[in-house]
Amino acid sequence: MKALVLEAEGQPFRLKSVPDPVPGPGEAVVRVIACGAGLTIQHVRAGRIKVDYPRIIGHEITGVVEALGAGVTTLKVGDPVTAYFYLTCGHCRWCRSNRETLCENFGGYVGREVDGGYAELIKLPARNFLKIPEGLDWRKHPAEVGVICDAIATPVKVIRRAQVSAWDTVAVFGAGGGLGIHMLMLAKWAHARVIAVDVAADKFDACRKAGADECVNPAETDASEALRDLTGGKGVDVVIDFVSSRTTLNAGAKALGRGGRLVTLGGSGQAVEASAQHLLNNEAIIMGSRYATKQEVIDSLELVARGEVWPLLTDIRPMQEAEALHQKVEKGEVTGRAALLIG
Ligand SMILES: [Zn+2]
Repeated sequence: MKALVLEAEGQPFRLKSVPDPVPGPGEAVVRVIACGAGLTIQHVRAGRIKVDYPRIIGHEITGVVEALGAGVTTLKVGDPVTAYFYLTCGHCRWCRSNRETLCENFGGYVGREVDGGYAELIKLPARNFLKIPEGLDWRKHPAEVGVICDAIATPVKVIRRAQVSAWDTVAVFGAGGGLGIHMLMLAKWAHARVIAVDVAADKFDACRKAGADECVNPAETDASEALRDLTGGKGVDVVIDFVSSRTTLNAGAKALGRGGRLVTLGGSGQAVEASAQHLLNNEAIIMGSRYATKQEVIDSLELVARGEVWPLLTDIRPMQEAEALHQKVEKGEVTGRAALLIG
């Protein structure tokens, strides 16, 4: 098969022929049609996340089941599928209670610990492939359908964890990023009032189209004061921070009002300084949110199939242009998501 292979840290993709994967017991091989090209996997291409080489990255796929290993009964050859990003055990306490992002036997990530979707074929445990529901036109929109498993599912989980409702004002830090734009979309879908916070003012038009009612630029104004002003001094109900630098976390924590919830999705992973008095007086909550469960991926596919939301892709290219596309992702020049057409 043809594959885009990373052969060493920080090296460009090499488009080359490699042996076709063969499914072992419990595994499936899927023919890839499209694969998303987000910042998560650009971190690997750039060498900021360490992997063993050679490695094929990519996890946001649309594909069709090509071959099944022994004992696989949940899939059929020809089924259209997408992939679940995490390699989880399926039987620990957290996997059994629909909190599998906390799996005690976590095996890593598709496209990092095992080869991913930047290839004509991908082999994974069969339980990592999730069927695309009828009503989603994956033949016509393979790139859009491929990114749902992360770009829509990750915000869907945040909506649930932070219990976002129609009475909430939600501020999204890093709103102009690939996940941020989709977070705005889902917060608006939940009927919240939505405020985009980002230093990339050139993304504000896209933020408004995705659902932002207001935009705040922390390069020009103090973000927590701006959020207090926009809420008549009350503070926001929910802050969702994709940047998670000390600056954004502290601004977000200060901007929380009564019953406020601050959600961090990692980002730069720095420390937050929240006043215990402020947390107590407001019964405020600071929480983390990791990716999504398989059920949340399935729910996200259904949500898009029903026409409730639609992923924003602005750059879709053939696999030969992977390097150029990733340079754009690196510079933050992609609005929403990008993807490669593989097959
Ligand atoms: Zn587990």
